[in-house]
Amino acid sequence: MRKKMSLTPKSMISAEEQSRAEYKHGGREVKGNSKKVNQSLNESLDGEIQAFLIDEDQLHTYDDLTKVNPVTQTTVLKCLQARYSMKVFYTHAGCTLVALNPFQPIPDLYSLDVMKEYHCAPQPQEFKPHIFIVAEEAYRNLQGQMEPVNQSLVVSGESGAGKTWTSRCLMKYYATVAASSSVVKSQDTVDRIERRVLDSNPIMEAFGNACTLRNNNSSRFGKYIQLQLDRSQLLVGASVQTYLLEKTRVACQPAKERNFHIFYQMMKGATDEQRKEWRMPKDQQFVWLPNAEKTLEEDCFQETLEAMVHLGINAEKQGQIFKILAGILQFGNVNFSSADESQPCNIEEQSKDFLQRAAGLLGVPVDELLACLRVRTLKAGKQSVLKPCSQSECSVRRDCLAKLIYAQLFEWLVTFINNSICADNSIWCNFIGLLDVYGFECFPVNNLEQLCINYANEKLQQHFVAHYLRAQQEEYVSEGLEWSFVKYQDNQNCLDLIEGSPTSIFSLLNEECRLNRVSDAKKFRGRLEKELCDNANISWDKYSQEAHFTVAHYAGKVNYQIDGMMEKNKDPVPRELIALLQKSENPLLHQIFADKDTENAKSKGLSKVTVVSKFKNSLESLMKILHTTTPHYTRCIKPNPDCKPLTFQKEEVIIQLKACGIVETIHISAAGFPIRIPFKSFIQRYGLISKSSAFKTVVHTGDLDTDKDSLRPAVDKLLRVVLQSQVLDPACQRDSETHSTLVHCGRTKVFLTQSMLELLEDQRKKV
Ligand code: ATP
Ligand code: MG
Repeated sequence: MRKKMSLTPKSMISAEEQSRAEYKHGGREVKGNSKKVNQSLNESLDGEIQAFLIDEDQLHTYDDLTKVNPVTQTTVLKCLQARYSMKVFYTHAGCTLVALNPFQPIPDLYSLDVMKEYHCAPQPQEFKPHIFIVAEEAYRNLQGQMEPVNQSLVVSGESGAGKTWTSRCLMKYYATVAASSSVVKSQDTVDRIERRVLDSNPIMEAFGNACTLRNNNSSRFGKYIQLQLDRSQLLVGASVQTYLLEKTRVACQPAKERNFHIFYQMMKGATDEQRKEWRMPKDQQFVWLPNAEKTLEEDCFQETLEAMVHLGINAEKQGQIFKILAGILQFGNVNFSSADESQPCNIEEQSKDFLQRAAGLLGVPVDELLACLRVRTLKAGKQSVLKPCSQSECSVRRDCLAKLIYAQLFEWLVTFINNSICADNSIWCNFIGLLDVYGFECFPVNNLEQLCINYANEKLQQHFVAHYLRAQQEEYVSEGLEWSFVKYQDNQNCLDLIEGSPTSIFSLLNEECRLNRVSDAKKFRGRLEKELCDNANISWDKYSQEAHFTVAHYAGKVNYQIDGMMEKNKDPVPRELIALLQKSENPLLHQIFADKDTENAKSKGLSKVTVVSKFKNSLESLMKILHTTTPHYTRCIKPNPDCKPLTFQKEEVIIQLKACGIVETIHISAAGFPIRIPFKSFIQRYGLISKSSAFKTVVHTGDLDTDKDSLRPAVDKLLRVVLQSQVLDPACQRDSETHSTLVHCGRTKVFLTQSMLELLEDQRKKV
């Protein structure tokens, strides 16, 4: 059995052991520590006085937070801070890896040589903590098993914490260590699959990421990528699933934020010829292109183009894509006016050119485009009634068209990428899934987008709790071990509030949509108050009449604005707009919406599935997949809100530590026995340690009775031998009292601490 990642329980770490703490990175060893342990008093953040049993000078050497004693928010924080100041960015926290964002490139941290070191090491977990340890553990879990369990690497953290960076690192790692030979994709292209898998990143980031107040390269969609491996563990393909693209950004960018990168890349990187074709002169101001003066490394058009070529998006298709995007930009400069809001309105004089260009680029007749924006078609039985729109309705329809086109284009791209990188089912047999979803969000104003994002984070937290914490505790109980249950925050109540049935925020939102009436935010607040008052996770400010509600998420309280929420959930798409786009002379636009046509024909009109229902369903399928895999968790932490290099702000970090329940996780990992070996395997591996000849015969002949009851006394005897030899050995004399904290026998397995495993391995080597 492979050793589990450094899970040494804190209860077993003596002062001497801590003082011997050392960590290695490759061949280098960083020795630390004096023998003396300070028992200094430190004021914790919340004002408590805490006695630290740890050597403060050596805080940076604790590569696993389970070794910190005592484990509190304060000690954990101090340890991370000390490590950060020594430029050590990864720390184990039991089963989780904590990754602090350095906010600056760290030379050689992710180099090819480092990858090789971790990949080739017999015991990579003995090296300095690194994301490559997690990668390697998942990879090795698939090795040498008859029916390996697929693996998932779940990367979480708030916006800007480093999830996407980490996912990219993981992809590069697998593309390197699991590189297959060249694959002939089509007759005239021979391309390496790992190159194509990696090239999906710049394309998806160009179209799905944007500069926000929190992160210059913020992912505005969730992503689960499955790296497909064949029987020889080689990377042979991948498939991507995306979640809830923030399409509102196309037509409305929050103050000081930007639209999706791709628009800026085009604006900055187009050749003169392309500018002409796309009607994008250098000095043209576009309303939907704010903060274009900001220069970002993400504005690299060339990289996106090259990636497109590698993935098989040829020049012709590229031309069609960019014309669509250019058309959207023109569209943003179109405004409407009317004498008063109740009057039918028309396009402003100075907008006419923009509309003309937009129609040209999108390949639709300009008069029909204008008619679609200005006039609504109402169906009354078989009759159609035309109703002119007000000024604000026209603007809503303009934005709706832009969002619709962009979201569908994004979906088309994802499908194209999948077709290009997905291996045939007969080729791959296992996958390693990488999950990079938007982190928990709490803004001054939060709406449906944040509710969905935070709901996704609740789901992931529940998965973490269910899969790791609960499973661990339940195994102790089923094996008959005594276990004082560690209290942990169960977020089921919050999930019931958001998605439960029969009554929850989602169900009430959906009901509003079905009623098909003009939504009244204040009335909706009233309904929530009446229907959900029994749930302790929702509250209202009694003194505010505002249409809002507050949800107590596991990561903190978030106040949601109701205004606009119902409309966003309906996400209505006027039929006329789809019909117009189906007529497009741009082959790509035509193709994208031709597919829509058949979908809609089936459901007799436009789909009535609400945004929250769609999102809930897609998350549920994700959860189903995750539950069938072995998960590995990485918690990314953003050490300061301004993305400043090497700057650690305690208050920022402590909030994130609390939000992800890191202390509880450490408690459970530390108090437990992370290594479990079935009796039979245990005797097979360590039986030789016993001097008893009977044992030796058994081990040599492999004649082990499979009856667990008869194995148990043998295991007990073996353990006594090992532990007695320890007591007799003056070099590492231990108090016999501590034996029960080193090892326990369950009904079918031996439960060990890391120290006990090391002891057994030492003894085994001596035989
Ligand atoms: P969002 O939820 O907004 O998408 P995120 O968690 O995906 O945020 P990233 O985009 O991965 O955050 O990281 C933000 C920035 O932090 C990166 O653009 C990069 O500059 C920096 N960064 C993150 N991790 C590292 C790292 N390990 N080394 C150097 N810089 C990093
Ligand atoms: Mg991201």
